[in-house]
Amino acid sequence: NDAPINLNDFIRDVQDFPKPGITFKDITPLLLSSPAFEECINQMAEKVSDLEIDVIAAAEARGFLFAAPLALKLGIGMVPIRKPGKLPHDKHSYSYELEYGTDTLEMHVDGISKGQNVLIVDDLLATGGTVEACCRMIEKCEANITGCLFLIHLAFLDGAKKLDPYPVISLLDY
Ligand code: IMP
Repeated sequence: NDAPINLNDFIRDVQDFPKPGITFKDITPLLLSSPAFEECINQMAEKVSDLEIDVIAAAEARGFLFAAPLALKLGIGMVPIRKPGKLPHDKHSYSYELEYGTDTLEMHVDGISKGQNVLIVDDLLATGGTVEACCRMIEKCEANITGCLFLIHLAFLDGAKKLDPYPVISLLDY
């Protein structure tokens, strides 16, 4: 007789964070609720059940929170994509433009092999810059990106265009 879980109830809107005028989607209430977190991972697994996936890739830090439990549930491995200087082994690296300056992401060269089917996972799709950088690096591995999965898609920011032609899959759209 448990009431169904609505994931939307576990996302908190925080006004004017990190800057005035921005409404930040805060996922920490979802992480605090074991039933809601479990429901989220189950829904993610369900959403990608038709896709061919050999490995999951995710960028730090919030992407890891969803990628690791999803990888375990699907019985596959996960590859961490990190800020510079964190990974110890041979790396691919990719730099991309931000509003002010540039950012770089790194990935171990032996994380993803040629021809593998990769699912990219992140908490939220905003402008798409982060996951676009992940796509470019995974393309360097000559792997196939089968989809980009998000808990939240802020559709009004048009980030999905940057990820074209890869499918964008999400649980909650705003
Ligand atoms: P993008 O590169 O502009 O798509 O930004 C996406 C990244 O910024 C994600 O990895 C999120 O963790 C973070 N992010 C941007 N906006 C929000 C938000 O409203 N809530 C939580 N995370 C956000």
